[in-house]
Amino acid sequence: MLITEIYKSLQGESTYAGLTCVFVRLTGCNLRCTWCDSEFSFYGGKKMPVDEVLAEVDKLHAPTGNRQLATVNCLVEITGGEPMLQEREVVPLMERLISAGYTILLETSGERALGAVPKQVIKIVDVKCPHSGAAETFAIENLKALGPHDELKFVLSDRADYEFARDFVREHQLSERVHAILFSPAFRKDASGARDASHCLLNPAELAQWILADNVPARLSMQLHKFIWDPAAKGV
Ligand code: SF4
Repeated sequence: MLITEIYKSLQGESTYAGLTCVFVRLTGCNLRCTWCDSEFSFYGGKKMPVDEVLAEVDKLHAPTGNRQLATVNCLVEITGGEPMLQEREVVPLMERLISAGYTILLETSGERALGAVPKQVIKIVDVKCPHSGAAETFAIENLKALGPHDELKFVLSDRADYEFARDFVREHQLSERVHAILFSPAFRKDASGARDASHCLLNPAELAQWILADNVPARLSMQLHKFIWDPAAKGV
């Protein structure tokens, strides 16, 4: 499979935010979101067989070779790009990681079918809103593939995006289908330097007011890594 990078950091999003995690970033994406911060993963990459990816994950997870010392956090996120473009290889990778005892998060846009994803994998599905530049790409039949441990994310850049997300959540009764619904203000993709909310395209305080006013069963989700490190930093 084509891999852009494998690294260890803190999980920045989802209900797993703040936990140690090994990230496996696959190369290639078929969407072009206006606020994408992973454009470096669109092209290039290194061909790696599943065994090599597993060995790298193990090495990062337990550098001493003693996995017992690292059993508290066995989190691995498969991300991209869009990982499901490499379904033929990424599904066996996820199965091998599960067998090895890891907890797997899969970050995906939900544009590709998710039916083949092993049921133990926690899917973090990023449903694209109108101003993402990739509106209406979520495959609605993927709602059937969602389970009670999965999470749905909406990255919002303005009021229209918020209203789309709010109505989508209500229409499909998402709070009864998944573990968490995340409303996340989009970050400016050229943001660098200061690590503060002024880089958000949508003011988080305004978003908080809207969520409260409408009683939306969503949690306000900030990208933790943009506040810990320089927002332009890669591999964090
Ligand atoms: S789906 Fe993800 S990787 Fe692809 S363009 Fe959108 S934000 Fe970037």
